[in-house]
Amino acid sequence: MTYNYIVKNVKINLEEHPKDLGDFLPSLLRIKPKQIKGWKIKSKSIDARKKDKEGIYIVYSFIIEATNRIEIDKRAKHTLEKWAVEIANNGSCNTMKKPENPPIVIGFGPAGIFAALKLAQAGLEPRVFERGERLEDRVGDVKEFWEKGLLNGESNVQFGEGGAGTFSDGKLTTRTNSPINDEILRCFVKFGAPEEILYLNKPHIGTDKLRKVIVGIRKHIESLGGKIMFNSKVTDIIVVDGKAIGVEVNEEEKYQSNDIIAATGHSAGDIYKMFIDKGMFVEPKGFAIGLRIEHLREMIDKTQYGKYRNNPILGAASYQLAYRDISGRGVYSFCMCPGGEVVGASSEVESIVVNGMSYHERKGKNSNSAIVVTINPDDYGNTPEKALEFAAHWEKRAYVVGGGCYKAPIQTVGDFLQRKKSVSLGEVEPTYRPGTTFSDLEECLPGYVTDPIRNALTDFNKKIEGFSRWDSVLTGVETRTSAPVRVTRNNQSRESINISNLYPTGEGAGYAGGIISAAVDGIKTADAIIENYKIKQKIF
Ligand code: FAD
Repeated sequence: MTYNYIVKNVKINLEEHPKDLGDFLPSLLRIKPKQIKGWKIKSKSIDARKKDKEGIYIVYSFIIEATNRIEIDKRAKHTLEKWAVEIANNGSCNTMKKPENPPIVIGFGPAGIFAALKLAQAGLEPRVFERGERLEDRVGDVKEFWEKGLLNGESNVQFGEGGAGTFSDGKLTTRTNSPINDEILRCFVKFGAPEEILYLNKPHIGTDKLRKVIVGIRKHIESLGGKIMFNSKVTDIIVVDGKAIGVEVNEEEKYQSNDIIAATGHSAGDIYKMFIDKGMFVEPKGFAIGLRIEHLREMIDKTQYGKYRNNPILGAASYQLAYRDISGRGVYSFCMCPGGEVVGASSEVESIVVNGMSYHERKGKNSNSAIVVTINPDDYGNTPEKALEFAAHWEKRAYVVGGGCYKAPIQTVGDFLQRKKSVSLGEVEPTYRPGTTFSDLEECLPGYVTDPIRNALTDFNKKIEGFSRWDSVLTGVETRTSAPVRVTRNNQSRESINISNLYPTGEGAGYAGGIISAAVDGIKTADAIIENYKIKQKIF
């Protein structure tokens, strides 16, 4: 007989942090070491709010498997509760008859990957069409772009196996509180991600580890009978009487299916245009655009962790900032990459798009984040076509201002605040590749974006000392924070509201914003399709 407990709110001062938590737990619970049969960390976070007075605390909760009942110590600061035994969920039912024309998944980013995995586990052997290269080749294409400025329009930071998040910080946080989140994280661990992502309150995996996980999941889907075709761009969706019945790939081959998941991300302008031309209901929505800011990691770590900053338990520090401008616009930091790089994330010719990425160790010289301003449909004319044109317009401006060859326009914060073109750098060196050009960033964003950023920088400097240090570097432009449109779907069936059999899914559909939420959306869409098959095949 074993007794399972969850111990919550265990706060350990960083300076007293034991080397081995296994030795520490018996004394915490006032029991003998042999009474603990097993334990694991359930959650771990850092509380640096009182770093100057009390120091930094690491706050844990643990799951304990004990041989005896443990008495609850009412005077203790931590709490102890009984814990139900976890039931491993492999998400597999594999009882379906494979249909003659299996479900189709367009796009192999997080939404497409997890939709395909779920369908494959159910025995439905999905066909996946991905316009970009498989990861092994995609890495080479991205390298060519970052090193030589040679853009492959079909295989780049946005397109190809793994989708947009592949060359990312791999932050696995999400605001959606779904039990499916854990299923996804466990799947990542199964295919090679570190176990800590299961309990850290800000889990991140890093681009290096994420790439291996993606290849592992692809091979698993294939082993279950799924077919994943790269260099396979869906060029048309065949619609008859308001029903999608198949897709055209690379303008030649045609494949039939009654279940077509469109998980094409928010960078595929061509597929949005196709949806609009087909009369599919697409609505404009709000999003955010702005600039990437880079600081020395050492400086950010110091402001967040003070004298404790080099402690390996803490790692590189992150931050999250928000400001309401006098104009009414929100300005906020987004996709913060501690110890990371600013990356060239263009997918269209002669356009600049920036984003952020880091490796698992997060040991880069700089830390960066996007500083973005909210954009409302009224800013661009309130139609889906104009939403797409709006972001594309500023990306093309940035290319021109950067002087061509995919060099990004940069400006120091000091010069940006004084509205003058930069001519030299200080201590912070930009990490963007294939190169940068001193510019006046006013030329590549509208004034209703640059002015609120200026005001926000002054405010952020009060919250993080040195945030607006003159030599911090701004790089333009950050335009792909979320989809500019929503491909509206029926809440229950998850199909497009006016084209049945077509399931807009993930970030491109406007129903997710990040790796985990896109993956959750993919799983939910696959579940809806599986339910339909169960009804058709009378599986209850
Ligand atoms: P995508 O990942 O965009 O995948 C869509 C796929 O569809 C692509 O592979 C594309 O090639 C394919 N496709 C498009 N059109 C077609 C077509 N016609 N035919 C066939 N295939 C097509 N999110 C986080 O949560 N954490 C982070 O740290 C993070 N960092 C990021 C860093 C960078 C550099 C970038 C670019 C994004 C980052 N994001 C991050 C955002 C995250 O990557 C996206 O939210 C997520 O990838 C969206 O998943 P998705 O599957 O909906 O779409």
